[in-house]
Amino acid sequence: ESAIAAADKANLAKSNFLSSMSHELRTPLNAILGFGQLMESDNPVPTPSQKANIDQILQAGWYLLELINEILDLALIESGKLSISRESVSLDEIMLECQTMIEPQAKKRGIRMSYPRFDQPCFVHADRTRVKQILINLFSNAIKYNQAGGSVVVVCAPSPPGNIRISIRDTGAGLPPEKLSQLFQPFNRLGQEASAEEGTGIGLVVTKRLVELMGGEIGVESEVGAGSVFWVELNSAFPPTLVESASEAATTAPAQVESSAPLRTLLYVEDNPANLKLVEQLIARRTDMRLLTAVNGPLGIELARSAQPAVILMDINLPGMSGTEAMQILRKDRATAHIPVVALSANAIPYDIERGLEAGFFRYLTKPIKVNEFMVALDVALEYAATRVGQRIGQDAQA
Ligand code: MN
Repeated sequence: ESAIAAADKANLAKSNFLSSMSHELRTPLNAILGFGQLMESDNPVPTPSQKANIDQILQAGWYLLELINEILDLALIESGKLSISRESVSLDEIMLECQTMIEPQAKKRGIRMSYPRFDQPCFVHADRTRVKQILINLFSNAIKYNQAGGSVVVVCAPSPPGNIRISIRDTGAGLPPEKLSQLFQPFNRLGQEASAEEGTGIGLVVTKRLVELMGGEIGVESEVGAGSVFWVELNSAFPPTLVESASEAATTAPAQVESSAPLRTLLYVEDNPANLKLVEQLIARRTDMRLLTAVNGPLGIELARSAQPAVILMDINLPGMSGTEAMQILRKDRATAHIPVVALSANAIPYDIERGLEAGFFRYLTKPIKVNEFMVALDVALEYAATRVGQRIGQDAQA
């Protein structure tokens, strides 16, 4: 029993360490990427040379974020802390989503992509987000390590017994056998270190581990001068039952657009001045909203009670009372229970997000802020808030 308790404690310590690493690395990146995005879309528009400089900052910033995510993913996997969900996932849908995400990259490099056509629905038993991550990684490699005017061909086929094989064929330089055996090793870029391509070689390692965690297999065949074929095999599955989609439809509030919508208030509880300034400037661009801010939990709660904002945006790591505690107090109070509280935090590993949603946050946004995603989440919360107010008025009238 004491050995189990010690192991649990060690595991918890590891999770907490990874979570705070993620937080510490993301916080400065939030300022870099957030203000970069603001400048990019500023009015007056930046000059061409300013625009080029901003592009460099943003590009390097997003790339750094990708690296941080990959390293944390790998650390999570190695410590057995990455939870994988298993559900029936439509490859058809996933392929379309990947296509949208990868097409700009392919176009930029002049690589022709060919995707599989599905005559029948095709499902695998896997984690939806992770399958996407795996495919995006393999597609992106096939584009990066290709030749000018090359192509990438993606094929899906059943692979008995009970598997589906997705193969990605590129027209790159190909790899000799001795290098093939070194693939899937972290920080081993097979002599690409001096090339113009960015990368740590972690992506493939993470990909391999993810495939294995889902009970699948990954492999590669290559011929020097002709190109490589990376393939992934996952367990095939039956289509999901319709129960899920029915409940999903019920939770989606009908979108009601009011032309003469009154100015709605957002309360942002945040202790970091750079983050406050960033959200201030983002909200300044919205004519339908005004912003109130508080620098800690108790002040935020007080302001929420008196000002009755439509939506609250809550940092998690606050001095003294945490954002989660503050949210729970707000949820319990009759005066504020109806206000959706959206978390905005640099605690961004899946474990943090799950815990946050379980605790009662309406949505959980991670830093660095992606401006578009942020605005969409705000709209969803505002819409929800509008329906809640309607319900409350209805109830009062009945009473
Ligand atoms: Mn904070």
